[in-house]
Amino acid sequence: MDIALPNTLSRWMTGPRVASLPQPTELPAPQMSFEFFPPRTEALEATLWASIRRLEPLAPRFVSVTYGAGGTTRSRTHDTVARLARETSLVPAAHLTCVGATREEVDEVAREYLAAGVRHIVALRGDPPAGASQYAPHPGGYAQAEDLVRGLRRIGDFDISVGAYPETHPAALNADADLDFLKRKIDAGATRAITQYFFDTDVYLRFLERCHAAGITLPIVPGILPVSNFAQVKKFSAMCGASVPTWMGTLFEGLDEDPETRKMVAATIAAEQVRLLQANGVDEFHFYTLNRADLTYAIAHILGARPKTV
Ligand SMILES: Cc1cc2nc3c(=O)[nH]c(=O)nc-3n(C[C@H](O)[C@H](O)[C@H](O)COP(=O)(O)OP(=O)(O)OC[C@H]3O[C@@H](n4cnc5c(N)ncnc54)[C@H](O)[C@@H]3O)c2cc1C
Repeated sequence: MDIALPNTLSRWMTGPRVASLPQPTELPAPQMSFEFFPPRTEALEATLWASIRRLEPLAPRFVSVTYGAGGTTRSRTHDTVARLARETSLVPAAHLTCVGATREEVDEVAREYLAAGVRHIVALRGDPPAGASQYAPHPGGYAQAEDLVRGLRRIGDFDISVGAYPETHPAALNADADLDFLKRKIDAGATRAITQYFFDTDVYLRFLERCHAAGITLPIVPGILPVSNFAQVKKFSAMCGASVPTWMGTLFEGLDEDPETRKMVAATIAAEQVRLLQANGVDEFHFYTLNRADLTYAIAHILGARPKTV
């Protein structure tokens, strides 16, 4: 036997040693929130409600419903949120943006939510409507999220979440200016921030350090996107300023026509991400469910969440 040949065992013995992650049972149960978008068709509506019912026993802190770009889903968002309030045990949160509406119109939507028993708003500036390259405030509207937070505070005692960007918002002058905007939204009365999704845990953990150094003490809840359609996420990430690591592309390589394997890979990636965050002390998670329950349910389960009787 030629012992000069590549020494596999020596390679194994001298590689980096990674301490095992703590078991979820050794850690506090996670607090979770789930995000949905308002469905466009009856078939999609059925999928959404099946997903809501599947996730409901996990007793999330709240579930939120997005507001279409350019304010295009105003009534569908309202209907979904109002039905959540009426028919489920869940605490609904409505996303609300500044786009395409006057302050009075936005205030009116917020008042309608209060009347429907909805006290949690995810307050956002919003993206420009399709076709517009740059955001321009509506004349007479709230210019940015900070103004919307102030407006909501005047209307009622809302729980207000705002957006945060671990990799910096694409329109920001620089990372410090972006952090300053986040601080201003929080000082205006937000109660938590939810991050844009990210795949590099280190980027998020460094962002938390910068937030803390800037005097922010409220939770900056990580937004977790379980990725099952890699091609779509790659396209979307280029627009919203979230980077997609090369290793992720490698993991999904050759799986374009193999959704079953893609789903298993997706669950593994997201499970690894949340367990690493959990091991670092993070115990609140916001899931971008894309109206599907399966991946979110599996990952929540891995985190230690178990169904409660509804
Ligand atoms: C958790 C989450 C949920 C979301 N849900 C929705 C949704 O339901 N519907 C939707 O349409 N979009 C949604 N978005 C996307 C969001 O609307 C966009 O990212 C939008 O471009 C910025 O919104 P914001 O509230 O963070 O804006 P802001 O906090 O107002 O601004 C974002 C950044 O832009 C820069 N900026 C803003 N104003 C100025 C200024 N005057 N001068 C210089 N720089 C400025 C700053 O760097 C600032 O941090 C969501 C984002 C997140 C993170």
